[in-house]
Amino acid sequence: MSRHPSSNNTSGPWVDINLGAIAANCATLRAAAPGAEMAAVVKCNAYGLGLAAVAKTLVEQNCKTFFVAYPEEGADLRKVLNSRNANAAIYVFNGPLPQTMALFQSANLTPVLNSLEQATIWAAQPDGASAALHIDTGMNRLGAPLSEVDAIAALSGLNIDLVMSHLACASDPAHAKNDEQRNLFARIAKDFPRARASLSASGGALMDARFHFDLIRPGVALYGGSPFDVDEPRLKPVAVLRAPVVQLRDIAPGETVGYNASFKAAAPTRLATVALGYGDGMPISGSGSAQAVIAGARARVAGRISMDLISLDISNHKSPIKTGDIAIFFGEEISLFAAAKSCNTSAYELLTGLGDRVDRRYL
Ligand SMILES: *Cc1c(COP(=O)(O)O)cnc(C)c1O
Repeated sequence: MSRHPSSNNTSGPWVDINLGAIAANCATLRAAAPGAEMAAVVKCNAYGLGLAAVAKTLVEQNCKTFFVAYPEEGADLRKVLNSRNANAAIYVFNGPLPQTMALFQSANLTPVLNSLEQATIWAAQPDGASAALHIDTGMNRLGAPLSEVDAIAALSGLNIDLVMSHLACASDPAHAKNDEQRNLFARIAKDFPRARASLSASGGALMDARFHFDLIRPGVALYGGSPFDVDEPRLKPVAVLRAPVVQLRDIAPGETVGYNASFKAAAPTRLATVALGYGDGMPISGSGSAQAVIAGARARVAGRISMDLISLDISNHKSPIKTGDIAIFFGEEISLFAAAKSCNTSAYELLTGLGDRVDRRYL
């Protein structure tokens, strides 16, 4: 399950990861939800940025509670925390299965129980270890349905220390479903008076105080991604994706570029071929639409993105470009949000899709 970036690729793409910006985003989230504890979601290799380095930064920021999706991710995180002599609670969203119970115990992980079935498995343990309970308030994805809540609350041997739910529409703070879920959650949370309550991921954390409860669980905002359908200027960019030019060429009007010849030059065109492709996580859906900044000016992707290469149209560049120059696809002038939009995807998918070939360089 551990997916540590393996390469030390010095001729290909890399992502600069500004750990100081993660710390700044911690401070921003804490200031936005001053009454709540800020837990950190570090699932999926800390959104592709590297679990070990990100978790160390969060420990330095005094983060005491983490969330992952799988128990294997939790076990990896426990090793990182132990190596720092850091003690923190690690909650596992996907909850326990008979075959993962041993891992929960050996790595001291706390499950998020998502059903009566999971709650029953956990309650059968002798030691009464604590657990979170996820109640589905309308997302209809993961979490116990309302019809199971009473039966779960009545189980003996269950020690629920956190009750949580998840907003379906936090990307749009004006969406009516946010209030519906919030009010339903507030009502059900009262049935668990000894548990802390948590509703909000990044989006709700940056919404008003009614959404904050006792604990917020941001992920993408820590990593500089807007959780909203618009850019979020309160967050500092964390990741900068860079790739070098490997070849330059000039083509005549009527010539085409790349697979399927989907770009056809209308005029004499200068191209920079860059070492980045969908194999590195640059979505093929950015073909013809994504942009990069190179030598201080923007260039659009010409034609189809291939596995290892992208062609940029640099015809309008005033300054000369040479092999080895660096194109920046997101993180500075082009925000992660804007880059995701130009690829018809989300900041989440761009970050978590960064391939193993993309060297992670920590600043
Ligand atoms: C992934 C996840 C989060 C974090 O979401 P962000 O939008 O990245 O802040 C929080 N809660 C649950 C249940 C999740 O699955």
